[in-house]
Amino acid sequence: MTTPAVPEPVVTDLASLQEEQGATVYTRSEHNISRQQISKHALKVLYRLKSEGYEAYLVGGCVRDLLLGREPKDFDVSTNATPEQVKQAFRNCRIIGKRFRLAHVFFGREIIEVATFRGSGEQGKGQRKIDQEGRLLHDNHYGTIDEDVIRRDFTVNALYYNIRDFSIVDYVGGMDDHRASMIRLIGDPETRYREDPVRMIRLVRFAVKLSFKINPACEQPIFELAELLANIPAARLHDEALKLFLSGYAVETFEMLRHYGLFQYLYPSAEQSLSSEADHFPKLFIAKALENTDKRIGEGKSIAPYFLISTFLWDAVKTQTDENTAAGLPDSIAMQQAASLVISAQVKHTSFPKHIGVAMREVWSLQSRFSSRNGARAFRLLGHPRFRAAYDFMVLRSETGGEDPELAAWWTRFQEVSESEKQEMVTGLNRTHPRKRRRRRKPKAKPAAEQNKQAND
Ligand code: ATP
Ligand code: MG
Repeated sequence: MTTPAVPEPVVTDLASLQEEQGATVYTRSEHNISRQQISKHALKVLYRLKSEGYEAYLVGGCVRDLLLGREPKDFDVSTNATPEQVKQAFRNCRIIGKRFRLAHVFFGREIIEVATFRGSGEQGKGQRKIDQEGRLLHDNHYGTIDEDVIRRDFTVNALYYNIRDFSIVDYVGGMDDHRASMIRLIGDPETRYREDPVRMIRLVRFAVKLSFKINPACEQPIFELAELLANIPAARLHDEALKLFLSGYAVETFEMLRHYGLFQYLYPSAEQSLSSEADHFPKLFIAKALENTDKRIGEGKSIAPYFLISTFLWDAVKTQTDENTAAGLPDSIAMQQAASLVISAQVKHTSFPKHIGVAMREVWSLQSRFSSRNGARAFRLLGHPRFRAAYDFMVLRSETGGEDPELAAWWTRFQEVSESEKQEMVTGLNRTHPRKRRRRRKPKAKPAAEQNKQAND
């Protein structure tokens, strides 16, 4: 092996050094990751960094997934080169991030993320700040691999595939946990949850996605610490929530989040409807929506995040609409105001872009239009840009007791038949439900007290 001169000499026997630091190094023959499973772009980045004299590893989710024989979502690289040094090595590279700078190397549609080892910063100039609850605020410090590893969340997410000798470097017992199908935090669970409470939901996500057992010591603190999620920025929680529910295991993830009391910090109004003992429809409705989401993902179909969120919030919108109507507001205004109230309460917990709120409102407000099908109404509704989502939503309602299944069947057929048959379906409505002869409305009778008052005036 040659010893490159730039920028600093690499220790020739790196593996021995790492073993001295307490790592276990699994040689190529001791694990199942082959270069054929690794994206050619990721390999290009790794080899280039290596030839420039840097350390370069695959790390995180991709190593974990490759060990399980799964296809990784993306490939992340970890190195001792600074982002600026990475940029010098690649023309197709951009530096991103303010809080922590990363290099993105672009190959057409594939992006390889290259992160410089992060340090604990403890010997640094106070760049690692924590708040009163123990939450990490700033973390802007480069380090070495043995420092980088202990900043990661779970042992199975902290394995490094070394491009120098194709070994796996394990500082935290991640390979043993892999073999035991166990998800375990690195270090003391309570401290790690306090540093970053999002790790509680990540634990659930990985336990479900990988079908791993949760290490009991990592399980207990959650019940007590779940409330720390209330301090996490709402935009970050929204991003994490999407990963939770849009990765194909939404049903199980939902059940487990509720078990640990975590779901209430994501969608409190949904939790409230689910906990109402009198009514089991919200539970059925949300369960069905999650089931459909998983099914669609399994079939490779696209998923619109707003759709699922609109199902979570539906019961709250309905309840609030009823209250508004009872207070005397006209139906459509009652619904619009309810939607505004529910959305503005939700974005305090998981904040989503405006267009998501707009789409949810449309889906909700179209629900009342499915039952008025006379004349041109059914055609107008069919031509609405949000028709398809609103229809799917209505079908969900009909499957869980919230709407007449015959109405859903009518709309399903209405979309399938020819124009002339559509016209017949609408005409047929009048035959089965003849329209009442329109009478001119008499002015509403005034309450007796008021009539008397007027008579006395
Ligand atoms: P996925 O396949 O779902 O993307 P992943 O493991 O790649 O899973 P990411 O969210 O992409 O998950 O994070 C990449 C890596 O960064 C993780 O494997 C972990 O090592 C580290 N990491 C991410 N989030 C945290 C966190 N909150 N605390 C500590 N380490 C984290
Ligand atoms: Mg990832």
